[in-house]
Amino acid sequence: MSTEPIRGRLSEIRDRIAEACRHYGRDARDVNLLAVTKTVAVPTIRTALAMGQQHFGENYLQEACAKIAAIDDAAVTWHFIGGVQSNKTADIARNFTWVHTVCREKIAQRLAAQRPAHLPPLKVMVQVNVSGESSKAGVGPQETSRLIESMLRLDGLELRGLMTIPAPDKGIDAQRKGYSRLRELKEEIKARYGDDLPDFTDLSMGMSADFEAAIAEGATWLRIGTAIFGARQYKH
Ligand SMILES: *Cc1c(COP(=O)(O)O)cnc(C)c1O
Repeated sequence: MSTEPIRGRLSEIRDRIAEACRHYGRDARDVNLLAVTKTVAVPTIRTALAMGQQHFGENYLQEACAKIAAIDDAAVTWHFIGGVQSNKTADIARNFTWVHTVCREKIAQRLAAQRPAHLPPLKVMVQVNVSGESSKAGVGPQETSRLIESMLRLDGLELRGLMTIPAPDKGIDAQRKGYSRLRELKEEIKARYGDDLPDFTDLSMGMSADFEAAIAEGATWLRIGTAIFGARQYKH
């Protein structure tokens, strides 16, 4: 498969991010692009890497570990963005720099305990279910600060912020609602525990279909797959 379409789409996404930052008065240095590479093959990931893409997000541990082993490049930072099961925490704590999807205390404790001592603390975000759909993972907005509180004293974790996957909505105003809820929640938590949370600055939100809305509401990590790599070829 030719890698040319990926080059074009990645530069186009970068342009759209820059444009949205100008439009919404965001400093472009605060808005990071996480290239979501679930189902994407190693040579394609290397194409993005050659274009200066540093951060990659994966959902499925086995698939991710194979790619991490194949792309042993110091320039790459791996983010885990899939559901975290207890029996996977050790491998996640060993292989990733970031985890965006912590939504239970027990999982946080295991990740903290299993983070190898020679590595810096694992950077984590708490996944919040802002739209309250029962099918979605994530802690409810009301329970978020209690979960954060339970994580404050875990060595081995650096609490970085909140993440969400809202219900898909059409139109930027509707899309901004869920994202503004996450931003407010982050501000509430920061106000309450700020002294204990010096690095609690991140909002992981915005995907291919709605990242401009997320930029408008303060996203610091955009998780974009399809708009860069095309439609995914298979589903897990
Ligand atoms: C797959 C995935 C994405 C990327 O979604 P696209 O619509 O392909 O950009 C972002 N976040 C999470 C958690 C995902 O699983």
